[in-house]
Amino acid sequence: MAAISRSGPRLACAGLVVAVLGLAVPSLAQDVAPAAPPPGVESLDARRARSLKELEDLTSQISLSSERVAALDKEIAGLKKDQTTITAALIQSAQTEKKLTQDIAGFTTRLGDLRGQEESIRNSLKERRSALAEVDIVRANIKDCLGCGYCNIGCKWGHKLSMLETALPWAQRDFPGKVRILSDCEVEKMVTRSGEPKRIEVLRAKLADGRGVTVRAQTYVLAAGAVGSSYVLLQSGIQGVPVGKGFSCNMGAPLTAEFDTPQHAYAGLQISHYGLPVEPGYAFETWFNPPVSQALNMPGWFEQHFHNMRRYDHLMAVGVIVGTGNYGWISKALTGGPGINFTPQQRDLATLSRGLTLLGGILFEAGAKRVMLNAWDYVELGSADELGKLEPVVMNGDNITLGTGHPQGGNAIGVNPKTSVVDPDFKVHGYENLHVCDASVFPSSLTVNPQLTVMGLAHYAAKRIA
Ligand SMILES: Cc1cc2nc3c(=O)[nH]c(=O)nc-3n(C[C@H](O)[C@H](O)[C@H](O)COP(=O)(O)OP(=O)(O)OC[C@H]3O[C@@H](n4cnc5c(N)ncnc54)[C@H](O)[C@@H]3O)c2cc1C
Ligand code: SF4
Repeated sequence: MAAISRSGPRLACAGLVVAVLGLAVPSLAQDVAPAAPPPGVESLDARRARSLKELEDLTSQISLSSERVAALDKEIAGLKKDQTTITAALIQSAQTEKKLTQDIAGFTTRLGDLRGQEESIRNSLKERRSALAEVDIVRANIKDCLGCGYCNIGCKWGHKLSMLETALPWAQRDFPGKVRILSDCEVEKMVTRSGEPKRIEVLRAKLADGRGVTVRAQTYVLAAGAVGSSYVLLQSGIQGVPVGKGFSCNMGAPLTAEFDTPQHAYAGLQISHYGLPVEPGYAFETWFNPPVSQALNMPGWFEQHFHNMRRYDHLMAVGVIVGTGNYGWISKALTGGPGINFTPQQRDLATLSRGLTLLGGILFEAGAKRVMLNAWDYVELGSADELGKLEPVVMNGDNITLGTGHPQGGNAIGVNPKTSVVDPDFKVHGYENLHVCDASVFPSSLTVNPQLTVMGLAHYAAKRIA
């Protein structure tokens, strides 16, 4: 079609040229001067000139038409190209439309599924709410934390505002010359003066380099912790009171959970969140450590352990801590130093088992892919349906890994010297000048972290002792 319409004007123009030449040729053959034309008739010369002029015009039009044809050719080529592009675009959008239609169908199905699950999730959340009385972020006395994760072994930048950064320097500042701090100084024993009333006469201690230290004072306040204070009292031969008895702890075991997304659980405080269940007797605390410490507590042996450590950044752990009964006791170990005698009783293991089962359910609902128990036998759960595996392992107290950072008791506070070591003024029953003030005076385990209570007790005791 395009070729025909383009050659059409060329042929028509050529025809016109021949016709014009045909008119002109006879006039060129004349060699006799023509007679003047009658009036009103155009002379031959004039006609020839006009014909030549027409010929020139036509020739010019023909060349113009050729340019136009070339332009049209170009335009048509452009249109063809556009047509190809448009066709490709149309195919693409048809494919996109098909994909979108499929996606929408998928979303609609998924939405339907989610709506179906909504009710059960709501019910489950209601159950969790009724299981957890309180959930919050742990607030700690830390300033400008760098998030290095080494809190548990002390902050070398001084950002964790422990006693070393606060109470001790404040005491030196507020009582200049009256506060002397001896570091690396171990109290070996306190010597009781003979006769009544009983008094501590002298305290003997040893510095790290072996030098002995003797302290004579009006008043002695022992604050060596649940294990340390009991042991010093035992070493000092304090009698007539149940020294070291009634020891308890917050007994803990973690569940380690893997998530698809990185958790960065090691950064900052090792305990960042806590939860208190409605059922009394245990608490939840998130818990994580820098790699080497975490490796010590990572479930699994050999390759399994290696695999778990490789997932370090995707792991987080939550511990269940159970406030145990006060059936433990501190003694003098045969090998020297303090002996801690504590075998978890079934009642406390059962509480731990319930806590771990509830915790496992919470972790799976939060999106955990797998959850591991810290035990001698490797116990890994792939879904909440497997939570029943926990109980038999936990109830066998020899299989599960248990730990505590919260020893308590041993020198319980109370009015009866048969059942307590210190009286309500923190004074050892029967002694005039010996006091104990630390976690060892707790008659029973707190279940939650003890430090605030220890500090609160110190404030309370100070007024009674001073
Ligand atoms: C790793 C870890 C993390 C913890 N995190 C928290 C937490 O986040 N929140 C919380 O509330 N609790 C926490 N706790 C528990 C808390 O630290 C203790 O409950 C608390 O410090 C107990 O206070 P205390 O005064 O009874 O004993 P301690 O704080 O243990 O003080 C006893 C001191 O006496 C010294 N001592 C012992 N024997 C002798 C001796 N013969 N001569 C001289 N000195 C002696 C010890 O070296 C020690 O410095 C944590 C415990 C650990 C181990
Ligand atoms: S994470 Fe702990 S040790 Fe590290 S900077 Fe913060 S307070 Fe200090």
